[in-house]
Amino acid sequence: MPSPSPAPNLALNPSEWHRSQRQMFLALVILVTLASAVALALQRPAFDPLDIWALPGMSALLIVLQGLLVLKRITLSAALQTAYLGGATYVLLALSHQYEVMPATSVTLMENTYWFAVIYAAAFLTFPSRLATVVTSGILILATAICAWHVTMTVPDDMRLKLAAASAQFLLTGAVLIVLNRTIGVQHHRLMATRTAAYTDVLTGLANRRAAEEHLAALAQGDTAFTLVLFDLDHFKSVNDTYGHATGDAVLRGVAGAIRHLPPGSVASRWGGEEFLLILPRHDRAEIRARLDSLRTQLRGLVLGPVSGVTASFGVASSRAGEHPDQVLARADTAMYAAKAQGRNDVRVADTIFRHDLPDPVN
Ligand code: GH3
Ligand code: MG
Ligand code: MG
Repeated sequence: MPSPSPAPNLALNPSEWHRSQRQMFLALVILVTLASAVALALQRPAFDPLDIWALPGMSALLIVLQGLLVLKRITLSAALQTAYLGGATYVLLALSHQYEVMPATSVTLMENTYWFAVIYAAAFLTFPSRLATVVTSGILILATAICAWHVTMTVPDDMRLKLAAASAQFLLTGAVLIVLNRTIGVQHHRLMATRTAAYTDVLTGLANRRAAEEHLAALAQGDTAFTLVLFDLDHFKSVNDTYGHATGDAVLRGVAGAIRHLPPGSVASRWGGEEFLLILPRHDRAEIRARLDSLRTQLRGLVLGPVSGVTASFGVASSRAGEHPDQVLARADTAMYAAKAQGRNDVRVADTIFRHDLPDPVN
């Protein structure tokens, strides 16, 4: 039996999450471009030899990535990771560069080292936690090598001790930041796992009622048209009574497997007991008929131990303009009960008889 797909993570509706990430990337492009222009304008007329090419280079890289994103030639995560590596390269170059240009009286590192904190934190938003730890550790090792090289080889003797202390502190805070971010990353991962569990039906792995209710609540906020299908297995109690609860559970899992493959944006949920709710993008009559015909054929073909074939009673309702999802659900519920009352193994679309041409329930 195929294992059902995991419940959707409604806190992170994939398309909304993707859109907000893209907007954030665009904001980053604009911000870095503006900040680079301002930084260079403030340096006029004596430009820093690194900034004069690195800042425009960084902006150009981001603008190119943004263009590739718009043209769909690159994924968002590839754009973010490339931008990240560009930023990390810049701060490492700037770290090395500062030892060469720092005044002879310097006892501390320069302000550009502040950006390492951002680089360490951003890694955990850009890469999976484990990879982020590897990337940031690599950056820290490079930073350590740069500091060690300059403190021992290039800085004047009388500055060495103070700069060694300043560099050690800078590197130590980097290490602490990496550990902190890694810890937060692990906790976040656990939190997300708990959240996913809270929205998942344990028996079937489908979205549970809470997930479905939140999805309906989200639909209430927008104006997306949708179709609800509520269905209840026929005479399911007799499956339990005849073959035992374990077989009943297997049937429920089998039904879940049959409703796994729905169009993008759909939710297949276990609404309760042996009742399931499908939240679908709006289907017209012919489309829903085709979809439910195929589902009913699948259910009739299910063979789970001694149980051969399952039937259900379906209620279908599509949203009308201005209608709250709860009202649509109530119409689907009424339609489903009408299908039950009519003799089961039937589909009803709201108040209208839709189809009643299949044999009586098997069991
Ligand atoms: P109808 O056609 O009118 O829907 O009849 P039915 O027997 O399907 O409905 P009824 O409400 O009488 O019984 C539902 C049964 O579903 C009773 C309950 O034990 C069973 N059930 C609910 N949840 C589970 C579950 O998680 N596992 C198993 N094995 N059975 C369950
Ligand atoms: Mg039932
Ligand atoms: Mg029921």
